[in-house]
Amino acid sequence: MDQIKFMTKSTEDTTTIAQSLSKMLNKNDVITLEGDLGAGKTTFTKALAKGLGISRNVNSPTFTIIKEYRGGRLPLYHMDVYRVEDADEDLGFDEYFHGNGITVVEWAHLIEDQLPNERLDIRILYVDDTTRTIIMTPRGFHYEELCKELSDECISYR
Ligand code: ADP
Ligand code: MG
Repeated sequence: MDQIKFMTKSTEDTTTIAQSLSKMLNKNDVITLEGDLGAGKTTFTKALAKGLGISRNVNSPTFTIIKEYRGGRLPLYHMDVYRVEDADEDLGFDEYFHGNGITVVEWAHLIEDQLPNERLDIRILYVDDTTRTIIMTPRGFHYEELCKELSDECISYR
């Protein structure tokens, strides 16, 4: 499987997919999120957090690069590397990737060389005001299995 594609027609549709995904995630899972401003990266992350049972509101960590959310089934590490100035600078990302939680990286391509090879790459494409295409590319066997499961569960958005 190369990738799976979903079409969502509302914020709620995207939330539903992210919440389904959240139930399937395990410790050390890494998800990258790409997409233009307003595509829905933060919306997706908020829904993941909610699905993990995190009650704190998740917002874009624009000025902090990394935010940690605890209190859910697993900790969530939310990175927004948009403002990382030197792509090779080691800001301790590895500790998060191999930590006890799930890492979500917005604008991940900016630290491409520091990302783990095995991960789930998600790209959200703006179609119109309320419509988005969500393309998921699994990197590695574990994420391929995860995508198959998600694809079955969210079949109505395919
Ligand atoms: P980003 O973090 O990628 O800049 P946000 O998640 O902050 O984007 O913003 C996405 C906006 O688009 C939100 O206001 C959301 O309600 C809206 N939206 C409309 N339709 C959708 C959809 N199908 N999926 C996700 N977001 C949508
Ligand atoms: Mg955002």
